[in-house]
Amino acid sequence: MFNLGIRLTNKYVGPYRHKDEWRFIGQAEVISRHEDPSNDKVDMCDSGTDWVLVKVSDVQAKNSPVRKALYDTFTSIGCACGHDCCGCKSEYVTGATKLDGHSDLWLVELQWYLNL
Ligand SMILES: [Zn+2]
Repeated sequence: MFNLGIRLTNKYVGPYRHKDEWRFIGQAEVISRHEDPSNDKVDMCDSGTDWVLVKVSDVQAKNSPVRKALYDTFTSIGCACGHDCCGCKSEYVTGATKLDGHSDLWLVELQWYLNL
């Protein structure tokens, strides 16, 4: 379980983004994560798509922007290595869909690339 939040500032790169200001709206838990089958064929796996099934809980307000929070929480761009080709992974959300018939399960489409 981790905090699900809206990112209010954008001063820090991926690994340090927790130092930005956040407004936490609830909790999230990754139930499963699968690579898209096309990943093997794309760019020798320098980049790809993963599908992440997320359970959202303890959302405080009924109209909380869960989708926006999923985008902000799962997106992590850049690193602090200070040199090219460090191999670090950046990830960004390109879709978040609430599963039919479930109030708390979301399918998150996560694009990723390696700094190569
Ligand atoms: Zn790096």
